[in-house]
Amino acid sequence: MVHEKYKEIGYNHEGRRCGEAHSVEREWIKWKPTNACIFNTILHADVTVGNHRYTAQRPPNVAFILNRQEFICQLSQDAKKRGVILQTNDKIRTIENLDGDLLVDASGCPSTVKRELDIGSGFIGTTYQQSLENANCFTGDTIQIIFVPSGGYFWIFPRNPEKKEVNVGVGFFGNADYDLRKILNKFKEKHQITGTVNYVVGGLIPLGLQPPFLLRNILFVGDAGVGAFPLTGQGIYRALLSGDIAGRCIAQNRLKKYPRIIRREFTHWNVIGSTFIRVNHVLKKINPALFLTTMNLLIRQGKHLNLFTP
Ligand SMILES: Cc1cc2nc3c(=O)[nH]c(=O)nc-3n(C[C@H](O)[C@H](O)[C@H](O)COP(=O)(O)OP(=O)(O)OC[C@H]3O[C@@H](n4cnc5c(N)ncnc54)[C@H](O)[C@@H]3O)c2cc1C
Repeated sequence: MVHEKYKEIGYNHEGRRCGEAHSVEREWIKWKPTNACIFNTILHADVTVGNHRYTAQRPPNVAFILNRQEFICQLSQDAKKRGVILQTNDKIRTIENLDGDLLVDASGCPSTVKRELDIGSGFIGTTYQQSLENANCFTGDTIQIIFVPSGGYFWIFPRNPEKKEVNVGVGFFGNADYDLRKILNKFKEKHQITGTVNYVVGGLIPLGLQPPFLLRNILFVGDAGVGAFPLTGQGIYRALLSGDIAGRCIAQNRLKKYPRIIRREFTHWNVIGSTFIRVNHVLKKINPALFLTTMNLLIRQGKHLNLFTP
């Protein structure tokens, strides 16, 4: 049984709390979004790191800006057809009230269960995003990411083309106590970005793995377990993949395999991501501009330009 705190699955505030960039290479093809789930097909990624600009081309049908609310809604309808009971308007306040043999915590970040049990540690990022209607920077097939010396990044993602809508956001590595709204508004001013703000979201992004992945009979998936890709904060793919792995382990009655598979699938990028975050934490104190130097080095290594890689 799925417990969802909102009245509707997908079409709620959490469903909208995202930049909505998603990509479907390799096994991701399983969750390829279709029709109404797609706002835009992305063919180009423009990445700016200080004075350096990089561009990456994407083949058609690989990278998308989702209508994420619709995507989640359709996934839940698929699950329902397969016999899953979806119980909405049902906020879990304590796991004491749950009587299943197994629990899968997919409550996002911060995880409801981990907070209750006072467990878990991992790197966290902070974000703030505005959706702008009639935006002058709408380019339907391109996403833009701009890294800045203070250890953060901005993104401009095209959303609903009918409204010429964009998601413009800012994220910082670490638990920043900056005024992100002010920082984003300054960024918009500097880049002369105009448009009417029609939606605002924000909150925490778990950067990389967030152990434990299994505790007694509780499996942690998505943001609650594997977190988002540490360098860019993309977590949709990782949530889908970890949910799939958890499902297989449960079906085979081999729960203990779950942490092992998670480590095998995600450790490579986690080592790179966590080293990067740790190094920058130190460099920031010496000279914030060194953040851009390390980011440039990472990108120049070649494959790191593929910003949709898990
Ligand atoms: C501003 C921002 C921009 C982002 N941009 C991108 C992006 O462009 N691309 C990308 O891939 N990722 C992005 N991410 C990260 C991505 O959104 C997450 O990694 C992803 O949503 C994680 O999915 P999840 O299913 O684990 O958690 P969530 O999507 O957070 O879902 C958690 C679900 O649990 C429900 N829930 C929570 N608590 C309870 C409770 N107590 N009882 C019942 N139900 C509960 C919620 O209502 C929600 O439906 C962004 C994140 C933020 C904050």
